[in-house]
This record gives sequence, C-alpha cells and structure tokens, in this order.
Amino acid sequence: MQCLSRAGWRLYSALLHGRAGHIRPGNLCTSAAAGRGATPSGHDTGIQVYNSLSRKKEELRVHSAAAATWYSCGPTVYDHAHLGHACSYVRFDIIRRVMTQFFGIDIVMVMVITDIDDKIIKRSKELTMTPLSLARAYEEEFKQDMMALKVLPPTIYMRVTEHIPEIISFIQKIILNGHAYSTSQGNVYFDVQSIGKRYGKFTGTFSDINTEPADSNKRSPRDFALWKSAKPEEPFWVSPWGKGRPGWHIECSTLASSVFGKQLDIHTGGIDLAFPHHENEIAQCEAYHQCEQWGNYFLHSGHLHLKGNEEKMSKSLKNYITVKEYLKSYSAEEFRMFCLRSKYKSAVEYSKDSITEARNTLKIILSFIDDAKAYLKGQLNCQPIQEDILWHSLNKTKVNVKAALADDFDTLRAVDAVMDLIHHGNRQLKTVSKEFQHARSPLVYGAMVNYIEQFLEQLGISVHQKQVIPIVIIQAPCSTHIWVSFPPYVYLSSTFYILHVCLVCCIK
Ligand SMILES: [Zn+2]
Repeated sequence: MQCLSRAGWRLYSALLHGRAGHIRPGNLCTSAAAGRGATPSGHDTGIQVYNSLSRKKEELRVHSAAAATWYSCGPTVYDHAHLGHACSYVRFDIIRRVMTQFFGIDIVMVMVITDIDDKIIKRSKELTMTPLSLARAYEEEFKQDMMALKVLPPTIYMRVTEHIPEIISFIQKIILNGHAYSTSQGNVYFDVQSIGKRYGKFTGTFSDINTEPADSNKRSPRDFALWKSAKPEEPFWVSPWGKGRPGWHIECSTLASSVFGKQLDIHTGGIDLAFPHHENEIAQCEAYHQCEQWGNYFLHSGHLHLKGNEEKMSKSLKNYITVKEYLKSYSAEEFRMFCLRSKYKSAVEYSKDSITEARNTLKIILSFIDDAKAYLKGQLNCQPIQEDILWHSLNKTKVNVKAALADDFDTLRAVDAVMDLIHHGNRQLKTVSKEFQHARSPLVYGAMVNYIEQFLEQLGISVHQKQVIPIVIIQAPCSTHIWVSFPPYVYLSSTFYILHVCLVCCIK
C-alpha cells in the first residue's frame, strides 16, 4: 500500500468519520479520574489486555463496534530492517489477526514512516545521497520485508514530510494552550511542568530520565523539542519560528490525531518506545485536545535479543541479523511460529536452537495434517478410532484456544492447546496390517484437520505450500523474426506447455 497523499488522506479521514461518526462520539476524550489509564467505556471485545497505562490487565473496550482505531509507530527509514524490528511487527500483526479473525473486530490502523530525522540526515551524508532518496529506498525495502514476513500492511501509511503544515499547526495550538514555548534559537519545546503530575505515565516503569540535548533557553531539562531549528546544510521547512523541522514525538501525535481525532483505542510499539516517545506523544495530544485521556490502551512488545547477549538487537549495538539474511535460511512461517511461541510482551531470545524448535513445531503439525489426510483418503489403515475421545479433545481445544487468546493474546498457550490435540490425534493414527480393513472415522479427523488448518491460516501461517509447476517452452526454429508465446497454454501431466513461435514464419 502506498502512502496517502494529503488530499487522499483527508478524503479517507472524512470517509472514516462519515461512515462511522460514532468512532468519535461527542467531543470529549475518555474521562480519567487520575489521568492514568481509566478503564474506557464502549464496545466490549471480550478480550483482556495488559495496558501499560494502568499497568494491569483490563477489559479491552473500543469506542465503536464498527472498527477499533489503532496507531502504530512505524520505522525510521535509514537502514535495513532487522529481526528485532520484525519481531515487534510480526507480534502485533498476530494480535491484529487475532482481533479480526477470532473476535470479529475490524481495525483501522495508521502507521507513520519517519522519513526525516537526525539518523537519516547523518546516513545520507555518509552515502552522499539526499535524505529523501535514502528514506524512500529504505521505506520500500521495509515494506518488502514486511510483505515477505506476511505482515499485513496498515490501513493507512503516512509520511512525516508530507504533513509538515499540519505539524506546524499542531505545535501552534499547543503553544496557544499554554503548554509549549519557542526560544530565541528557533526551537520550540514542550513545557513539561505545565501538565504537572500528568507527566510520567511510563517513567516509573521504563526509565527515569529524559536525555534530550539541552538548549541554553530551555526552561527545564525535562522539556522536549516539538520543533528543531535547522543546522547548516540540513533539510528544513519554513515555520513561524524560522527554518527547521519537526521533533520526533510530535509527528505521531499530529498524524494520529489527524485521522482519529481526540480518541484513540489502541497504541502499539516496542517497549523501548514507551519512554520518552509514547510519554511525550500522550503529553502533546492531551495538551492539544485539552482532554483527560487520548489513547486508551498502550501495548508494548518485548525485545528480541541474540542468545548470550543481554542487550536488545539494535543497529547501534551492531548485534543484528537483517530480515533478508534471516530469510536465506528460514521461512516467514517459521519466524511467525517462533513469535507465537512466546508472549508478545516478553523479551525473547533468538538462536539457532530456538528457530529450529519453531521449525520442528511446524513439522509436527504439518506431518499430522498429512497423516490425517492420508487416513481420510483410505491410505492409512488403523485400529478402530475412539471417536468420543477425539471429539471431546477437539471441542476442549477450541474453548482453550479462544480463552488463551482472550487472555492478553496468549498465543503460547493457544499453540500448546493445539499441540495437545495433535498429540491425541497422533496416538490413534497408528498404521496396522494392510490386509484387514477396520471401520473408519473420517469425520472426526476431517474436523480436526479443518480446525488446525484454519487456526494457522487465521494467524498468518499458510499450510498450503504453493505448488511449483514446471513450465516447458516448445520453440519453433527462428532466430530473426518476432517471437510470441502462443496461448492457450497446455497443462498436461502437472506441466505447463507453452508454444513459443515466430509470427513471421507462421504467416508464411
Ligand atoms: Zn510514534
């Protein structure tokens, strides 16, 4: 999916709000007595979710039954995506699929691509490219990597550089509301003290210091930049405060608000984004909208780190494997199974052993499906099947899987429940002598195969490998004239035959 142009995005936003005006009922954000994660009212999804705002598990209630609104921080596109990024996006893709496929909740997801930033400027200088061409190249690569990992694209991609006027207006209103100030150097800072104890929703849990570089005119070290004045040879936009560019946090607040307004159901990102990034996003939005609670649920995914390395996988630490390197040895399905076999908010260790374990889990599942299908076709002759045990086991699995997924998306428990069902299925699929035919029970095995295949498909794992069909080209002898492929192609004995002929010779 391409980034929306400004006009296209406005049209989409209008459609969204026109179609489901009740996505933003009234003009008020959720009321939060303490300004810290009040449980929202609204449509009950039937899911319990760990909310970083309240630091506890609570009912996931969304504003509109028609569609949940979800904002996801996107990548800063200055280098290749690595498995640490992939892990976060795949885990949230699984959660998104669980919500839509298992709980019937439609989702409107917005993701912003950060295409201007200090790292992009630095890297573009190293590679003697313009920051914009560097950003576009890595944005395209990011999208291809996500597609290769079967991560569904967001409903709307947005780019920071295509929305600078909106960002400037957003900052102006925060200043007008008394929560930000400009300095003589042409910077604009958020005045953290102006919101008192409302600042610090995530600080206690994740970090306790804001390390943004100081400006001599900054009122407090905790204040953070909304607008940065341009240094020589940096890209810039003209603003009421001089030439400059937006700070990092303001882009997410502005663009999320531009689509969803004052009320957001779900906000996601890696745990390292909780502070200061999400903390500052909240401060900006609540200062802009003058509301008690802008985003209702903040979900954070745990880090991925290499075995024996306590640090998270990151570019700056040079301890990473790119998505492309990974895909040379393993598949998207195996990585997804690796992600399913841990809780999304836990740190997870990547190693040859852990990915091989995921590969083996998939092999066990696929091998059971093959055996069960062989049994269905009468190619496996077994002792009489104890159907009651299998029907009971299948029904119990369905209940356990739904309960696990409703419990803060516990995919590990859901996969375990399915593996238990496979264990019961395999115990009875023992081949016996081919001479004697026992009574057969295809229905129960058919139902088990259907359920397991559907379970995997709903989570983004395709069990039906695409068949590679050989193609043979039959060529008429001509080296000088015009060659064409001659339809219809003939499919015979699992092979496509294509007649490749020369038009000139044929007409002669
Ligand atoms: Zn963000």
